[in-house]
Amino acid sequence: MSSPKHHQLKNQSDLQALRTLAPNRQLTWTEETAVAARQANRLRQLHQQTRTLAFDIDIIATQPRLRIDADSYLSMAGSSHWTGSHWQILVNETDHPLRQRFTIAHEYKHIIDNRRQINPDFEERICDYFAANLLMPKRLVVAAWTQGQIERNLVAMAKAFAVSRPAMNYRLNQLGLVSPLPRCRNTMHPANRPSAFQNRSTHHTTANYFEPSVELLGSRQ
Ligand SMILES: [Zn+2]
Repeated sequence: MSSPKHHQLKNQSDLQALRTLAPNRQLTWTEETAVAARQANRLRQLHQQTRTLAFDIDIIATQPRLRIDADSYLSMAGSSHWTGSHWQILVNETDHPLRQRFTIAHEYKHIIDNRRQINPDFEERICDYFAANLLMPKRLVVAAWTQGQIERNLVAMAKAFAVSRPAMNYRLNQLGLVSPLPRCRNTMHPANRPSAFQNRSTHHTTANYFEPSVELLGSRQ
């Protein structure tokens, strides 16, 4: 890891190093998630962030030939494109800074995957998955939750990892550390059961960063 050759490669391009972790063929969803997690972990390793809870997002912001600009007129959380001379990531200026962090990580995965053939159904979800793994690595989240480093609650965890509460909530669910919130109140005693109309209004209890993209992330900070 610390050979001169490694340092040379590291300085040359993280992007290149991350791209080489993906096989040159279309992958299944399971393979895509494995690659995304590996890329997220590698990026942390390359910048000595393996023990840092709150990922330093400047690592992406200071990548060579990459620029991040805030745009208050953006109709979505973010976008990325190649300008001809550099990559540009646009983030919605009106979003909460924690949501912007997730957006930047999400967009960076689009840039990593730029030259690959990806099942269009996976494209957005895998960017969310990468962002979740980068900002909330499984090993660190499980350790923080189980070893008492920080208070075992959503607010403390979200703060420690510098992510939104819905994002952390989703991740804790995904890692099996908390039980999912009930989808609606249908499990209540029939006498206390709200009407069908009221039920509909409870359908926002779970944050899901798989749809619609990063829409729900950071929205309740
Ligand atoms: Zn996207």
